[in-house]
Amino acid sequence: MTKLRLCVTTALASVFLLVALSHSVLKPHATAQEGPNWHNGLPRQHESQWLVHDLRRPLPEVVTPGVRAQDAPSDAIMLLDGTNLDHWVYRKGGAPAAWLVKDGFIELNHTGSIQTKEKFEDVQLHIEWANPAEPKGVSQVRGNSGIFFMGRYEVQIVDSFNNRTYADGSAASLYGQHPPLVNACRQSGEWQTYDIIFRAPRFDGDKLVEPARVTMFHNGVLVHFNQKFFGSTSYRALAKYSPHGPGPVQIQDHGDRQPMRFRNIWARRLKL
Ligand code: MG
Repeated sequence: MTKLRLCVTTALASVFLLVALSHSVLKPHATAQEGPNWHNGLPRQHESQWLVHDLRRPLPEVVTPGVRAQDAPSDAIMLLDGTNLDHWVYRKGGAPAAWLVKDGFIELNHTGSIQTKEKFEDVQLHIEWANPAEPKGVSQVRGNSGIFFMGRYEVQIVDSFNNRTYADGSAASLYGQHPPLVNACRQSGEWQTYDIIFRAPRFDGDKLVEPARVTMFHNGVLVHFNQKFFGSTSYRALAKYSPHGPGPVQIQDHGDRQPMRFRNIWARRLKL
């Protein structure tokens, strides 16, 4: 009797599994609402191989977001959690980075710019930074650092709170090229966030096909929308492009001996 019950249970379980499988494999995204004639009469979507509401269209990959908006989501590479500099080397020479690591952040100690070991192309980058609470210097010599994408394209970090400098050198500017839409700087010494979507330039051999582009939020405020870089960052000169492959994210040591702080840096590789 027990054997018979076991057989029946196993058979029922198999049938149930088969039905479930056939539904998930043959109609991967169907819900009870969509019937067998769902695709009849649906037009082909603009610029797409798929129909409008196509049940066969692949679903977006699931990403678990961080608890707070500034926390790394599940598909991010944690580049700096504030406990070590394992992902970072010096830009010059490539030795392991030795900025100060303390209390969950790193501090610039005038030993040179650093860069990630990883190379990136299209990327979403989150970074938090703080100027010294008692600012020194004026214009560009006040909390100057910067984020260089692919080792070439700088998003400026500088203390722009009550500190006048040229517009295309302000905090969150694409340095030397585009001022931010607004100045969203917090007071000196407060932690600030950049959330940057960087689209790498496209080259066909030596020829530029599409420039690098940036969409960016400073402390949650939109400061660039799909803004283009005119070329690699330059000083007192017109920017221009030269072809290159993937490159690191760099943090600038501007050489002013100001103890800039950074924390919670993470990146998501994108294909835009
Ligand atoms: Mg800079």
